[in-house]
Amino acid sequence: MEKKRLLTGDRPTGRLHLGHYVGSIQNRVKLQDQYECFFFVADLHMLTTKKEKEDIIASRSHIKEMVLDYLSCGIDPKKSTIYLQSAIPAVYEMNLFFEMLVSMNRLQGLPSIKEMAKNAKMDIETIPFGLLGYPVLQTADILLPKAHVVPVGKDNEAHIELARDVARRFNQLYGDFFPMPEALLGEVPTLIGTDGQGKMSKSAGNCIFISDDAKTVEKKVKAMYTDPNRIRADVPGTVEGNPVFAYLDVFDIDKAAVDGLKVRYRQGAVGDVEVKEQLIQALNTFLKPIQERRREIEMEEGLVEEILYDGTLKMVEYGNETLKAMKSQMGLSGTWNKISRLARDRKSKGL
Ligand code: ATP
Ligand code: MG
Repeated sequence: MEKKRLLTGDRPTGRLHLGHYVGSIQNRVKLQDQYECFFFVADLHMLTTKKEKEDIIASRSHIKEMVLDYLSCGIDPKKSTIYLQSAIPAVYEMNLFFEMLVSMNRLQGLPSIKEMAKNAKMDIETIPFGLLGYPVLQTADILLPKAHVVPVGKDNEAHIELARDVARRFNQLYGDFFPMPEALLGEVPTLIGTDGQGKMSKSAGNCIFISDDAKTVEKKVKAMYTDPNRIRADVPGTVEGNPVFAYLDVFDIDKAAVDGLKVRYRQGAVGDVEVKEQLIQALNTFLKPIQERRREIEMEEGLVEEILYDGTLKMVEYGNETLKAMKSQMGLSGTWNKISRLARDRKSKGL
């Protein structure tokens, strides 16, 4: 039986961080055998907020880092297709068709768009058309290989809902064609940042990266926010919402030790230093094998490029096939086919 398809992507705005890992990468690695997987470098999505030439040039090194992150976390290019979004012509065309199926209102109501407008210090009326429309482009990404499942963080859940609406609308208008994609949230749908303020995000500068070495992890953890109301180690502290404990819950495999620390923290019987030491240990233990694998892969010159090249070529084909079938279902290819036939006939007769 044909496997169901899974797709997701990341913007090449920097290296991947722990939020990506728990929000999405973990599921990708886990589901690689069960699904036919597609992972892409979302360099067109990068342009929605970073379009200066320097940003585009800088993204080249991020692309390499990101793919290294994928591979070191266990994404296997023999099982999964890894590709570069901007090199797939069908994505641009599909985006246009889908733009006809979504209202401005629907896009303006998305919390993520409001948030991005706020971050860009613009309001919803003055943001670029492409930023407002980026969830439509995301729909094109998802529907290009007719994906069934999209592993994403919580912030992206509403976009998958939109992709479903578009797929449904397309099927209503032109007949059954796309499956209804489902969001698959990670073990931790939103990982908080080291500042304890909001989600871990490259643009917020509150990240621990998957490729951060042991010393960097130590430095970042030592500078982390804990319970702001706790001024001394003998004052009872709050575990809930405390990012140090949030990370311990996810990354420390010694659950009993974490529970013990929580009890003592609530009693005011342990200092931040000891809790942070535990976290530094846990994170470095978690990251060590990933980073060892990364170093091995880094030694193989040209490997990342070869993987991206093969995956992208495969996807160009795949995308063209979907697009061709889609246009035919829409009744859009008939006109051009007829024109071509008549013109060729005439030419062949030498008229
Ligand atoms: P940027 O600041 O450039 O937007 P980002 O760090 O927010 O970067 P994205 O590339 O926007 O990362 O997100 C890629 C994927 O990772 C998405 O599926 C997103 O939902 C998920 N993700 C990102 N940050 C987190 C997080 N802190 N917790 C859980 N999932 C996350
Ligand atoms: Mg983001």
